[in-house]
Amino acid sequence: MSKKYNIAVIPGDGIGPEITTAAIEVLEAASSRNGIEIFTKELKAGGAAIDEFGIPLPQETIEGAKESDAVLLGAVGGPKWDDVDPEIRPERALLGLRSGLDLYANIRPVVLHEGLETASPLKNPGKVDFVIVRELTGGIYFGKNGVYQSGDRLPDGTVKGKVAFDTESYSEGEINRILKIGFDLADKRRKKLTLVDKANVLISSRMWRTLATQMSFDYPDVELDFLYVDNAAMQLISRPSSFDVIVTSNIFGDILSDEAGQVVGSIGMLPSASVGMPGKPGLFEPIHGSAPDLAGQNKANPLATILSCAMMMRTMFGEEEVANSIENAVKKTLAAGLRTSDITFVGETNNITLVGTKEITQAVIDNL
Ligand code: NAD
Repeated sequence: MSKKYNIAVIPGDGIGPEITTAAIEVLEAASSRNGIEIFTKELKAGGAAIDEFGIPLPQETIEGAKESDAVLLGAVGGPKWDDVDPEIRPERALLGLRSGLDLYANIRPVVLHEGLETASPLKNPGKVDFVIVRELTGGIYFGKNGVYQSGDRLPDGTVKGKVAFDTESYSEGEINRILKIGFDLADKRRKKLTLVDKANVLISSRMWRTLATQMSFDYPDVELDFLYVDNAAMQLISRPSSFDVIVTSNIFGDILSDEAGQVVGSIGMLPSASVGMPGKPGLFEPIHGSAPDLAGQNKANPLATILSCAMMMRTMFGEEEVANSIENAVKKTLAAGLRTSDITFVGETNNITLVGTKEITQAVIDNL
């Protein structure tokens, strides 16, 4: 074997360990067929790290992630840690990893796979194949926030009392670097970029629009259009097949990608790649959470995590063949009618076999 990649694996909580185990099995099998060795190192984050170290993101996890070639993450969080101090909630690990590795762009392909048309709640979804490019280290999740006491009164006389605030703030630099990722991607795809914002209300959104318009002159073949986020939420349902690349802020991307997950059948089908500085490790993870309701029952759909490994091989290492072989194996598995419960529907009987996490993983490996 000539090539070796060191992957930091952060299983996290809930279904995290099951889906990362499944994805690594597929990744190792697909890589070895192409003469590539995969070395893994397991790191703790989220609730699992709170239990062991008292904090969601220990220094050794950040260091281990930085030393790796790429990071695979399951999901973090769960009811067990819902009441811990907000400063050490499991989800803090995500923000810490993203900012610690300077992963400012989250790329979320949304594809309705052949055979899953009936899993979509839409009557005629059409051919859905678009990408959401979400800004990941700025905006309201990282802006100035706080709580203060106010003695002021509302117009009806009610005392305001405590005031809690979060701030949406973006710099030109932050916006331009994510826009460039979006334009480059659109240029390689169907050449359509939609900027989703709330420019009718927010000053920061108006800056996104100005900068997107300026950058569009460098991409004469890419058609740029704009949608307010509330309208975008409707259009994703009414005409999902018309989108190519959507670029948006941290919070809007967070919300719209869950909606997109439903459009293509299940959130368990959506992979993602978080990338930043060239040459630095990216982070690859399904967009869903830790699904505590399914944990430990061999019911979780591992395909989003498996597809995240395909994104890792393509985006980080340029291993197009390995990435294609994983994606084709997932397609074959679905075409053969294998389904986890999240992508199986009442009344759907034609050649559909309901299977668990382990069985669908083995089928993907057999189909490589
Ligand atoms: P969730 O994504 O975990 O679950 C939402 C629904 O989707 C549930 O019904 C779940 O069973 C289902 N689902 C999710 N992934 C699935 C899969 N792979 N296969 C089959 N079904 C799947 O979201 P939630 O319930 O809002 O959150 C649960 C926990 O996960 C919370 O603690 C939350 O903070 C955390 N969370 C973590 C991340 C992350 O680590 N990136 C993201 C979102 C939520």
